[in-house]
Amino acid sequence: MVAENSFVLDPWVGRRRLTREVSVGSLGLGGENPIRLQSMTNTDTMDTRATVDQIERLVAAGCEIARVTAPSIRDAENLRAIRAMLNERRVEVPLVADIHFTPNAAMIAAECVEKVRVNPGNYADKKKFEVREYTDPEYADELSRVGDRFRPLVLRCKQNGVAMRIGTNHGSLSDRVMNRYGDSPRGMVESALEFLDVCEAESYYDVIFSMKSSNAHIAIQAYRLLASRLHERGGGLPSYPFHLGVTEAGDAEDGRIKSAIGIGSLLEDGIGDTIRVSLTEDPVREIPVAEKIARRAEQAWLGDVNRSSSAPGVALAMDPFSHVRRETTRVEMGKLGVGGSEPVRVELELVDPGALADSTQSLRDFLAALDSVEGIACESLLLSLRGSDFASPFAEIARSLGQLGSDLPLSMRVSAGELGSNFEFPAECARVVVDVTLEDSAESFGRISEAAAQTDTVLEYCLRVGFDELAVLVDRILKAIPEDPQAVLGFSLEGPRSVHGVRLLASLLEDRGAGHQAIVLRHSLAGGENSEADLIEASIAMGGPLCDGIGDMLSLRNFSDPASALDLSYRILQGARLRTTRTEYISCPSCGRTLFDLEETTARIKSVTSHLKGVKIAVMGCIVNGPGEMADADFGYVGAGPGVVTLYAGQQVVARNIPEQDAADRLLALIADHDS
Ligand code: SF4
Repeated sequence: MVAENSFVLDPWVGRRRLTREVSVGSLGLGGENPIRLQSMTNTDTMDTRATVDQIERLVAAGCEIARVTAPSIRDAENLRAIRAMLNERRVEVPLVADIHFTPNAAMIAAECVEKVRVNPGNYADKKKFEVREYTDPEYADELSRVGDRFRPLVLRCKQNGVAMRIGTNHGSLSDRVMNRYGDSPRGMVESALEFLDVCEAESYYDVIFSMKSSNAHIAIQAYRLLASRLHERGGGLPSYPFHLGVTEAGDAEDGRIKSAIGIGSLLEDGIGDTIRVSLTEDPVREIPVAEKIARRAEQAWLGDVNRSSSAPGVALAMDPFSHVRRETTRVEMGKLGVGGSEPVRVELELVDPGALADSTQSLRDFLAALDSVEGIACESLLLSLRGSDFASPFAEIARSLGQLGSDLPLSMRVSAGELGSNFEFPAECARVVVDVTLEDSAESFGRISEAAAQTDTVLEYCLRVGFDELAVLVDRILKAIPEDPQAVLGFSLEGPRSVHGVRLLASLLEDRGAGHQAIVLRHSLAGGENSEADLIEASIAMGGPLCDGIGDMLSLRNFSDPASALDLSYRILQGARLRTTRTEYISCPSCGRTLFDLEETTARIKSVTSHLKGVKIAVMGCIVNGPGEMADADFGYVGAGPGVVTLYAGQQVVARNIPEQDAADRLLALIADHDS
């Protein structure tokens, strides 16, 4: 049993986890060092020049640690040549040897690189997917065997001053751990700690951990659980640094969104010391994404340095170690159900709806843009209306929508301060979002509630206050509104530090007996829905709470292209595993083990399968790690040898060694067979 809050220093602020500094060559990692950016080459390790060229490009882009796979003794030996050529070119960067299944390669690598990465799931174990019960003595015997196999590497790293990453991956746990703890965050953590026991027994402490998964929920839970377990184990002393990543995240927007949600959410809580954004693209393109995520977190930590925890006495209303969605009351918003067991809804907010009120053609174009993205729909439109004259533009747009045959639920957003004392909400309004601040009195909340009750209008209170005043405003509103939960849709928040703010809001509502009230996650884009920075920011601001189980609707504003904004919202929901509206691709970033052009292959597989909504397809570069690491994919396309592919349904091989040119068609046929 772990204490709920022990995964962070403070669940209400971004306080960096205390870790020891580990030296990776001359680079300090953890402690007070900046978040280190890293990547991995995808060249053949035996191709020294190509590998060095890629490392040089990575370093020029800002990469601070470069990982290279060492699948065999020959590859491990070639790390010396890579290091020598880097030295010739005066490229200074610590190298990490990536080891799976080959302890003898690790022993060689530990002679010539600054860090070795081992996977506890396969360092001393072969994966047989065997189901069996281990008695305690049998389990202890296995641990002793693993220790004997692993100890020589620990001693060599200690002797050579080489750091080590104990890098556990969901899906590649040993049979022993899977049978005892399941393919779960707990299993991942136990697997890593078994290896740490061997390190600590030899007084070797230059250890960094990772807990990767292609499922952001699993990754977040595993890192939190490990942070908590290490905190308890170390009695609160600085612990080991963490390397963060969401593995097999894929490419393009989805790869960036998944990584931002997983990595960014953990960094919000001060968890993480070095990051790798895994994209199925040229690894150089990972660095700007990693940099944006890292610098954003460091700024947030800096901003929170002098903030004290402002929610004493409020229990954290979420389980940090498993994903449980808040139980809220379902409310009818026009024809749309929100909250309860409804999917997380998607809304767009128009901050300047005047143009749509003035021109039916503009509204027609707007609706056409929304319809242009296949498979997804805008479920609610929110008009931001300023001043007391909110009724006429609302009525104008509602009338035009009716004329155009649209039944899109229409809501409006007004400010409590501008409503005055004499107002009426339009009967056709699906809901009214009321902006409230500390200036607004309990009386005004009472008036708003009465006006909403008269027209049966659903209300949402958007709290526009700083974190420290949130409790005062929540209490003032809750005192003023009627008991009937149908009277209110819920709450939302607008302001900086939204992940902690929304977490506090949910906890306050729970504490005050209003935990059934839905929460709308609002986000305002800064530079446009197509900018990478905005995509990252939106993914963290909305994906973080979603992974914490908070959020019944996403509401996005300040977009220039409604279709892209809608698309972004649904991609975030899919990245947070809450709503599946398209095919999900799990593709590895590729490395020196990859047996085909993964970027090109992934694009080809996507082009023939993108119509398969809800199916998870893995495209993996090698048969050694691919099958394990595609953990929860429905179907797998895995490189089995030069020019040949093995196809999987779940974890089962269904066709071996298919020529690459036939493999996409065979995959489609396989999916069709399973569908029928
Ligand atoms: S699954 Fe991909 S990234 Fe992982 S080892 Fe195989 S080829 Fe490399």
